[in-house]
Amino acid sequence: MPESILTLAERVAELGHAERERVYRLFEISTLTGQLTVPEPLMSKLVDWFAEADDTDPRQAVARASTQRVARTFNRFSGEGALFNELRARRPLCARLHEDLDARIERARAGCDFCDPQRMTTADTWGRITGRHSVSAANASMYDAHHGMVVFREHHPHRFGREQVQDYLDVAMQWLRHTHEVDRSLRYPFIMWNCLEKAGASQPHGHLQMLITRDRPYARQARHMTVADAYRQQTHSSYWDDWVAVHESLGLTRGRGAATCVATLTPVKEKEMVIVGGLTVEEDFINAVADTLRALIDRLGVLSFNAGFFLPPLDGTPEYDMPAIACIVDRGDPARLTGDIGAMELYGSTVVASDPCRVIEALDA
Ligand SMILES: [Zn+2]
Repeated sequence: MPESILTLAERVAELGHAERERVYRLFEISTLTGQLTVPEPLMSKLVDWFAEADDTDPRQAVARASTQRVARTFNRFSGEGALFNELRARRPLCARLHEDLDARIERARAGCDFCDPQRMTTADTWGRITGRHSVSAANASMYDAHHGMVVFREHHPHRFGREQVQDYLDVAMQWLRHTHEVDRSLRYPFIMWNCLEKAGASQPHGHLQMLITRDRPYARQARHMTVADAYRQQTHSSYWDDWVAVHESLGLTRGRGAATCVATLTPVKEKEMVIVGGLTVEEDFINAVADTLRALIDRLGVLSFNAGFFLPPLDGTPEYDMPAIACIVDRGDPARLTGDIGAMELYGSTVVASDPCRVIEALDA
């Protein structure tokens, strides 16, 4: 297993011929070095920023800053890419203290509309779907013509396990299937889960959302489908099988029955994990999603996150070449004012501190 994203290019070179060729067919992985000089007046500040616990001399921190290695990854087919800075990647990944956040979430119980969903959330014209741990609602501010919501019974957005996530996604899938039955031209489902305001959630109370569209899936999924199509035409192989196999050969996957959890080589932002399932949304896939969310929250200190689910069309279109996929990404500490996404992420390549080789280990505990 690779020790670090920075040694990954060397690890690839050590793989057997077929595995190595598969990596090179899909990805470019390289390590580059940047250099800088440090003016004397800045020295002490810089030592504060870059010192490590076992340093014996402040010059070690200056040397660390003066020569910085960066790992660069690029997916040749999808165009996704990330930059991993050595100094950022060295920081330990651990749970953050969040007593203040818990207190704020508890205070929000008073007057929380989602704690009283029957009276205080809008409903679909045909009614609601009720599960053991959740109930459906219509989204009061619609993104699209069909926009539903699953409101969790539990107010605190971090308190859930496998049983709850199975229920939430079961209610979401029932809502999607019902909407499809009423209008068969609505075929492409999408599920999203925003946790806390930092990730775009309007209310702290736990909830997820469903959309369904005709003609084509939403833009990101449509692009993934085009990529998988181009890959099959050029290589006569399955893009998603090979994508998972590349990550597996580099130690970046963990299996959960028929589903695989992947710490992706090209994360959209910090600690992104991708869960690849089968051609339907089934138990192993949902358990893998639940386990990954728990690993991110409990072991990697994630507080706010976005999750997006790319799902197969509801009427089983034969030309569709994509398994069920869930992507989950950390959106940063709610206590920090600094945003996690800047111009580099929007228009350049994503800059990432979390090393995927460390991120995947969170699933081992
Ligand atoms: Zn609530």
